[in-house]
Amino acid sequence: MTPPPASARAAAPVAGQVLTRLAEIPVGEVRRVGDKRAEALAALDITSVLDLLTHYPRRYIDRTRQAEVAGMRMGEESLVLARVLRVRARRTRQGRALVELDVDDGTGTLRVTFFNQSWRAKQLPEGTEALFFGKLDSYRGRRQLTNPVVDLVGNRTGRIVPIYPTSEKAGIAGWEFGEWIEEALRRAGTLYDPLPESWRAELDLDDRTTAFHAIHAPQTFEARDRARRRLAFDELWRLQLEVGTRRLALERDARGIRHSVPGGGVGDLVGAFVAQLPFALTDAQRRAVGEICADLAGALPMHRLLQGDVGSGKTVVALCALLVAVQGGHQGAFMAPTEVLAEQHYLSVRALLEGLTVPDSGRLGGRRPLALGLLTNRSSAGERARLHEGLRSGALDIVVGTHALITDDVRFSSLGVVVIDEQHRFGVEQRDALRAKGRDAPQGEGADPDVLVMTATPIPRTAAMVVFGDLDVTELGELPAGRTPVTTSWARREEDEAAAWRRVRDEVAAGHRAYVVCPLVEGSERIQARSATEERARLEQTVLAGLRLGLLHGQLKASDKEGVMDAFRRGDIEVLVATTVIEVGVDVPEATVMVVRDAERFGIAQLHQLRGRVGRSERPSWCYLLAADPTPEAVVRLEALERSTDGFELADVDLELRGEGTILGTRQKGRNDLKLASLRRGDRALVEAARRVAQSVLAEDPDLAGAPQLAAEVRLFVGEDEGAFLRKS
Ligand code: ADP
Ligand code: MG
Repeated sequence: MTPPPASARAAAPVAGQVLTRLAEIPVGEVRRVGDKRAEALAALDITSVLDLLTHYPRRYIDRTRQAEVAGMRMGEESLVLARVLRVRARRTRQGRALVELDVDDGTGTLRVTFFNQSWRAKQLPEGTEALFFGKLDSYRGRRQLTNPVVDLVGNRTGRIVPIYPTSEKAGIAGWEFGEWIEEALRRAGTLYDPLPESWRAELDLDDRTTAFHAIHAPQTFEARDRARRRLAFDELWRLQLEVGTRRLALERDARGIRHSVPGGGVGDLVGAFVAQLPFALTDAQRRAVGEICADLAGALPMHRLLQGDVGSGKTVVALCALLVAVQGGHQGAFMAPTEVLAEQHYLSVRALLEGLTVPDSGRLGGRRPLALGLLTNRSSAGERARLHEGLRSGALDIVVGTHALITDDVRFSSLGVVVIDEQHRFGVEQRDALRAKGRDAPQGEGADPDVLVMTATPIPRTAAMVVFGDLDVTELGELPAGRTPVTTSWARREEDEAAAWRRVRDEVAAGHRAYVVCPLVEGSERIQARSATEERARLEQTVLAGLRLGLLHGQLKASDKEGVMDAFRRGDIEVLVATTVIEVGVDVPEATVMVVRDAERFGIAQLHQLRGRVGRSERPSWCYLLAADPTPEAVVRLEALERSTDGFELADVDLELRGEGTILGTRQKGRNDLKLASLRRGDRALVEAARRVAQSVLAEDPDLAGAPQLAAEVRLFVGEDEGAFLRKS
């Protein structure tokens, strides 16, 4: 975020303690923390009062549900307050640290066992009184709790006891945290709340002071939930303010191109392109092209995300955008994250654009074929020089390539539209670098190109608002007609697996082809390749004997890969045994069966992507997921894939299962402020509310000049430059 001008920063003082100020107070200054404890806290990355206050409880124990040891029932979770009678620390025969306690609460005794938590012996010496929460089981006839949640009560009396993450391991008892936080909050007094009362009322949110008290020391679970909601809102709001200010700043000094899109969205070249396609656009594609053209016609550069399932036809939509640029005398660039993908795109783009012509600037009224190029690090020096020259002179209309496109020596005559595939593998910096290519046109009158970003794996819309918060979103929620969804089944039993191999044989006999995807193996590409080689040999001698098998893995030379793929396309190879290298860019319509070994090791998105290699024609097709002994979580994944072929729906399941870490992890560091907020279903409304409030605030005050405290808070929590707070997480 660009800092507001200095003059504006000296705004009026506000009522209450400002959050950013608390980041400047060392935690050691809190009464009873002291130097020694401050050191232990530092190990948890808690160095300031703000760190302390945002160290939120991991869970809460309801003490009104406290049970007596005598009354505990097998298999049920319960909470008991008991005194430690005896402590033993030893190692199991497997070498795991084992701490065993005998505890007693006056009604009975109980064994408490900890594995791999040797520090528990020190934490819970004889005579200690603590709360133990867990499920009662039995070992050799003795009633016990294994790895329970523990809380040293101290003299706390509250009904709801917060349990703090990892604090005990660091030698800090939960009650100490409680005391320090209480003290810190007392000292901070009333906190300044940047969210105006009117919004709080409308969204039914607590004020900040109430929320901080109630998250740490709630009187009721309802109060805790309200507190969580408010603090989660703040996290999401800060993010939306950050992306919002960044975007507005970009727009402020943007020099966009008003592309002409005659014919209400479909112009000459685009019209000709669409007319020559062997299929009609889907309604979803038509809508997407319409939204994109509206952006292109506007004065501001487009920043749009195009989300669509595997096979939804994103490429055609992207080409329409590029052709709008070309038709106005500009150039288009199509950037892919890997060379394989760039080459694949180039081939399909070339086929799709075949026969299109553009006005020839050299000959009045004449036309020439549209000029397309492929630029990657594999391009030869001569080829590269030719491409560079073509881009500089404008002789080249559209270039497909990898990040080779954003190296310094590439100059465009006039870059109009940029399409970036698989944004998650590109950083924001690269997107910016490509955008800058529009500016430094040789004539010196360059402009910012319009940017369309495409994801390979869709993510839920609200998640996209956070992850791609600075982009507008278009979704292709429909597959082209005539596709028969891939029938997917999880082969649970041996006879299911036999059926899968039978299907492979039947389909091959019918002139179709099959993939066998080898398990993900830990370790190097080489190990992966070896396991694929073995798999092929095994299949050849057993269930697929007599069929023509081929092998594809990452260790093969590019030319060998090509040879294998060609043979598979021709049908000389009937069954392709492959590692996940086939996940991207392989398009053989005759392939109608896929068998995935050890499918439980793959993620949902990856399996869905793999499955997209079949079902690429009107023929029915099948995907068999072999998984003999999946974990309960893997079962959810496998069943989701059986049930649904909708990438958006699967993305939803994935997010619920794995949380946001996987989506956020690849984006820039600023996303780490999400301690309480979640992108899962539960917080979706909150994400939308946060975006709405941020947009409304920024509409009045685009760089938060009138709200310097809020601006500073956003910078502190999610800023890219002063991210001290973030670098820790
Ligand atoms: P993805 O969204 O996965 O990138 P592609 O753009 O590669 O999908 O399209 C998948 C296939 O569907 C391509 O072979 C493409 O030519 C074809 N296709 C695209 N749009 C349509 C349509 N409207 N009708 C029929 N086939 C289409
Ligand atoms: Mg524009």
